[in-house]
Amino acid sequence: MYWETAISAPEAPTAALQKLLDVLADAECVNDAGEPTALLQEAEHWGIPLRQTAEGLHLEYPHPPLSRPEIAAVANLPEAQIRILPACASTNTEMLGSDANPCICLAESQWAGRGRRARHWSSPFGQHLAMSYGWTPAASINPALTLVAGLGVFQVLQKSISGLWIKWPNDIWVGGQKLGGLLLEARRLPSGQSRLVLGLGLNVHDDPTLPDTATSLAQHQVNLSRSHLAGQIIRRWQADFARFDRDGLEPFLPLWNAAAAPMMRQIVQISDVRGHYSAEVLGIGEDGRLQVQEPDKAPVWLSAGDVSLRPLAS
Ligand code: ATP
Repeated sequence: MYWETAISAPEAPTAALQKLLDVLADAECVNDAGEPTALLQEAEHWGIPLRQTAEGLHLEYPHPPLSRPEIAAVANLPEAQIRILPACASTNTEMLGSDANPCICLAESQWAGRGRRARHWSSPFGQHLAMSYGWTPAASINPALTLVAGLGVFQVLQKSISGLWIKWPNDIWVGGQKLGGLLLEARRLPSGQSRLVLGLGLNVHDDPTLPDTATSLAQHQVNLSRSHLAGQIIRRWQADFARFDRDGLEPFLPLWNAAAAPMMRQIVQISDVRGHYSAEVLGIGEDGRLQVQEPDKAPVWLSAGDVSLRPLAS
């Protein structure tokens, strides 16, 4: 859940396409891109719907584009703190490299979106929420922050969708499928402080390219504006992170235990350095660790870093 990150660019669009996408972040249309055939072909390879009309090159959005004014208004933040990109490697990577404090980055698509331990996170153009919140906290980092962040997403969505729950430590599930995930990363600054970035991937629209293990809001007949949703989540995070800084995880525990109810007191499959085994989930502690118990053994505390949990049925 929390580790030092080496920022690397694996396979990426060419500099020419990236430059064009940068321009299209602020302009609806570009008409001086020279000979666009190669750019159009390359964009198609990356799943970016670049189109050419008489006016020039533009992006064809499958749904209303992310809106900076709408996000800022709902989040109650200045627009200047919000960046929206047509595409980037990952919004976490963007925010790890930025110094703005706080700063929020959203992308219509990511070409190297990642989950924990660098697993790929799918972010097709214009379909979902890929958003990162970056800041430089004054105090030391508490990895339990991911739990508070997940709870924020849960609270924003819970009235709209039934069967929503949180799978410790960082996934949002509906029934037996994953709706979204959080990724907390940090970079040590020359000052000795840490740059902290919290990323959220949340599936919004119908998307046949999602893995079978995943679901989206649309699949549950929930139709929400991505911008409104992003604004609500950011607003919630700002208030909850301030409270967490002040009071720690303790005030969030009752709600978190309720949000994680489908796994509480259940036997789950655990994968960690020891391999795969089954244990009963007993609950979480004030430091965000999970207490589990194998049959005929003493309870143990698990830290999020290298542990995966699965409900036995999935
Ligand atoms: P854990 O339970 O340990 O978090 P995980 O398999 O859920 O394990 P993550 O790192 O949270 O792993 O997320 C990456 C995994 O999520 C990928 O390996 C892939 O199977 C799945 N995945 C990729 N894109 C999406 C998406 N948009 N929505 C849901 N799941 C996705």
